[in-house]
Amino acid sequence: MTAQIISGKEIASRRREDLAEKVKNYSGSGTPVLAVVLVGEDEASEIYVRNKKKAAAAVGIGCEVMTFASSIGENALLEVIDELNENPHISGIIVQLPLPKQINSLHVLSRIRPDKDVDGFSPYNAGLLSYNHPDAFVAATPKGILALLLAVGIELTGKNVVIIGRSNIVGKPLAMLLTNHNCTVTLAHSKTQNLSEAVRQADIVVAACGRPKLVKADWLKEGAVVIDVGINRVDGRLCGDVDFEEAKEKASFITPVPGGVGPMTVAMLLENTFEAFCRQQNNQACCCRHCCS
Ligand code: NDP
Repeated sequence: MTAQIISGKEIASRRREDLAEKVKNYSGSGTPVLAVVLVGEDEASEIYVRNKKKAAAAVGIGCEVMTFASSIGENALLEVIDELNENPHISGIIVQLPLPKQINSLHVLSRIRPDKDVDGFSPYNAGLLSYNHPDAFVAATPKGILALLLAVGIELTGKNVVIIGRSNIVGKPLAMLLTNHNCTVTLAHSKTQNLSEAVRQADIVVAACGRPKLVKADWLKEGAVVIDVGINRVDGRLCGDVDFEEAKEKASFITPVPGGVGPMTVAMLLENTFEAFCRQQNNQACCCRHCCS
């Protein structure tokens, strides 16, 4: 079997075109604006932020990048978040991770007002997702993975899914999201025993562990759907967490790296930003009863 390649690049491009139309046709006042908080000088973060800004501009969403020295203290950063929370022109706020060691990222992410938390990383939105609540902002990468699966017509109900990686930004929210879509999910990590055995039981495998080409063809059930989240640079070239050349001969569907999950992440962030803007314009009360009573 040679797998059908799921082109995240094409699917994301169509989603961005649809979003641009929606933004253009929005009949109310104002423009959606995403605020990006960038601390320190991490080269990868700077590239991601540049890409987000360019993609936002292309769909008619404003993007204000605020950069701070890596020496900034936690209280000062919390004040920045408070100001953005109060600023009526800002629709969504994201904090580029990782943050420097002196800053507790949980404190910072928790401070973002839930109805502006378009990355969905705050405990409040993570909690709403676990309740399968419609107001939850779902983290962009898991949301993008779900969109890819649905776009190519994968039936989810009753499927066995193995997710490799339990981070708060990919693995855990994806496990919740797919559970909400009636999958049976195994969330694997570095301490999981017999990982290849577990993966062999999976109808859908999601690799999100940052280990180049960890998943081999002989780990896969014939016809499995393979989603590769990993972004690794090996000898100057990008590769995923799946051995793509091998795996595509065994899988039914597979995402490439690059051009798979990555472009969806940015598209979903922009969709979340427009959603936040619309909710705020419609004076939809924030679901959080703590900060927005
Ligand atoms: P983290 O480093 O936060 O988490 C990695 C996870 O993988 C951990 O849960 C870790 O286990 C697990 N893990 C590591 N090694 C193994 C192993 N050998 N076997 C099983 N599990 C293992 O990573 P992220 O979630 O932030 O990112 C994962 C990958 O996805 C990276 O390559 C990153 O660049 C990429 N990424 C891509 C995005 C996109 O848009 N395409 C977006 C976000 C990330 P433990 O918890 O036990 O340590």
